[in-house]
Amino acid sequence: MENLAEIHELSEILADQIAAGEVVERPASVVKELVENAIDAGGNRIDILLQESGLKSIRIIDNGSGIDGQQVELAFKRHATSKISSRTDLFKVGTLGFRGEALPSIASIADVKMVTANGNGPGKSVHYHGGQLQAVGEAQSRRGTDITVNDLFYNTPARLKYLKSLQTELSKITDIVNRIALSYPEIAFSLQNDGRELMRTSGHGNIQQVLANIYGARNAQKMVKIVGENVDFKINGYVSLPEFTRANRSYITILVNGRYIKNFQISKAIIEGYGSKLMVGRYPVAVLNVQTDPVLVDVNVHPTKQEVRISEENELLELISKTIFDELADKNLIPDAVDNL
Ligand code: ADP
Ligand code: MG
Repeated sequence: MENLAEIHELSEILADQIAAGEVVERPASVVKELVENAIDAGGNRIDILLQESGLKSIRIIDNGSGIDGQQVELAFKRHATSKISSRTDLFKVGTLGFRGEALPSIASIADVKMVTANGNGPGKSVHYHGGQLQAVGEAQSRRGTDITVNDLFYNTPARLKYLKSLQTELSKITDIVNRIALSYPEIAFSLQNDGRELMRTSGHGNIQQVLANIYGARNAQKMVKIVGENVDFKINGYVSLPEFTRANRSYITILVNGRYIKNFQISKAIIEGYGSKLMVGRYPVAVLNVQTDPVLVDVNVHPTKQEVRISEENELLELISKTIFDELADKNLIPDAVDNL
């Protein structure tokens, strides 16, 4: 083996690019991270504008808190966050972000421009290219943040190669935006690609209306409300009647304390709630909110924060299956207009 070089610290940019490898897999990951930032900023309107399925450009505009002009450059530093400050905070994370990794990661593998204003005085604009600060300036802006990510992965050819077709990348973005919109019915979302509008929600706070925006009004009517609770958990949401199903389980959206997560066991518990009412190979459409003491949920399991560890999980699974089973048992289950796309 060759002599290894001396030990030295990696440059900040290189460290950011390595972190980016974990956080940013594809354009949909950028959309997810930036929309989560916009949600954490507390506004009620988020517009997402893509060019070429996000590969050429991803622009996200929110009307949230904005960032103080003095702090914008800090926001692009790794492990810089306004969301947690102590170890105890980590055990009860109430925001979607907390790792302080998204902005520096994304800025290290793309061309990023941000204009942000917090309503006190003029706004600020910054421009990063491959992690290097190119320009900083004052900018006229209303309160909120407008961020544009161009040429994602321009300096990481391996990632670029790994991407699928524009159509597939777009459908991954649509999938994530739909799930987030279902999680936040009180926020008005819009998504467009190459000038074509793909979805829009009103922000009126009604999940059923968001379901109608995404799946169509007729299908939304084939979903029933569920509510249940036990000692540690409260659940509520909508599940489709057995006449409205899909060919895979990706139409199940699970939220734990407002965070959209992936959890095979919970999906399975939802499906089990249908008993023998589903045809083989068919899966329900569902949105399930789980509320619990944040202490029971460990969100610090994976960099993308989509996996969480839940204490007392078995209790929760039982509650979900039983609540759905009882609700569907009350329904007249003779299918009329069957819609099984
Ligand atoms: P995290 O979300 O984990 O804190 P990020 O790198 O995504 O880390 O963002 C760093 C910080 O920049 C955030 O903690 C927040 O203070 C600020 N920030 C990012 N995006 C926005 C936004 N759209 N509106 C207001 N503040 C933002
Ligand atoms: Mg973030």
